[in-house]
Amino acid sequence: MYKIMTPGPTQVKEHVRQARARVCTNPDLDETFVEYYKETCELISRLLHTSNETLILGGEGILGLEAACASLTEPGDRVLVLDNGVFGKGFVDFVSMYGGVPRLYTVDGRNPIDPVAFAAFLEKDHDYKYATLVHCDTPSGILNDISALCPLLDQYGIVTVVDSVSSMFGEEIRVDESKIDILCGGSQKAVSAPPGLTFVTLSDRAKKVMAQRKTPIAAFYANLRIFEGYYENKWFPYTMPISDIYGLRAALDEIAEDSEMLARHAQIGSACRKALTDAGLHLHLESGFSNTVTVFEVPEKTTAKEILQMMREEHEILLAGSLGTLNGQVIRIGHMGANANFQDMAQTMGALDSVLSKLGITLTLSLEKRFCELCEKC
Ligand SMILES: *Cc1c(COP(=O)(O)O)cnc(C)c1O
Repeated sequence: MYKIMTPGPTQVKEHVRQARARVCTNPDLDETFVEYYKETCELISRLLHTSNETLILGGEGILGLEAACASLTEPGDRVLVLDNGVFGKGFVDFVSMYGGVPRLYTVDGRNPIDPVAFAAFLEKDHDYKYATLVHCDTPSGILNDISALCPLLDQYGIVTVVDSVSSMFGEEIRVDESKIDILCGGSQKAVSAPPGLTFVTLSDRAKKVMAQRKTPIAAFYANLRIFEGYYENKWFPYTMPISDIYGLRAALDEIAEDSEMLARHAQIGSACRKALTDAGLHLHLESGFSNTVTVFEVPEKTTAKEILQMMREEHEILLAGSLGTLNGQVIRIGHMGANANFQDMAQTMGALDSVLSKLGITLTLSLEKRFCELCEKC
């Protein structure tokens, strides 16, 4: 069994797995399940500091992103797609697929989107129905400042769709203060439940835009309106994956009780980055580091494949390479959710010390020792 230290899916704790084994009722007909579902949705809203409704959908993270685009886009709609990474750019496909006309706002992939430059862009060009942006673009680990960017879009009445799948609960998100219309999360990242569920928070404005469409939504499963009135009518549009939701709830209850969660992510993220650079390795990003994932460049004289394979075979630790143009160039350590604990991180750093040394890479100090000094927790 590998120790999973990837940026999603993440480790799933015993009590979350146990919760998934609970006796099942019929989630369509047993009204107590409707209450349970609604309470779970309300818990997510509370954790994200919003009075907006949350919906849990039966499908992994991608479904939330697609559902947001499917439900908002009408043929010919202009949509602004903020892009400084793989997931950012990926929204072009969802927008186009439902007939929208995407306009890319692309900046370099090593720094977050600059709110000042973006404000200047919007001043000249703001005729968009909605905009998509990614909080943490996981393949590079870049963290965009949604608390600055979304209010700028709001000033022009542009509805915002934010992919926070890999940042939610590892980085602070305040949906109402940041004026986020639709925020998408997934069960398999910092939540640390198995893959299979996505959740979206929906502002009244987003609901109104969907209700005022002139054309029908060209989807059923990806139609966010099909949940309308589910609670009043005690009727789900499709049978809810009850065991997945039991597991999700156990994971969320733990997050709700963990007052140190964000601070621990910040401490681990910063100690990981500093240990790597102090040892002479290079981080991929110049700025805008997410505390959920650290991405460093593969040293010369070796390959990502070799490092990943030795971590697996000699230390039973699973790290990740990356996607797109970063494939083969970088290694990613996912320290989000249940992965974000000092012991596993120290062990991962120690394993990297050994693997890199065997591959002939000279580090100027021990990653494990430096990480532990910086954390003072392991
Ligand atoms: C993980 C992730 C998703 C969900 O997509 P999968 O590749 O299917 O796991 C969506 N957006 C971001 C930023 C993610 O990190």
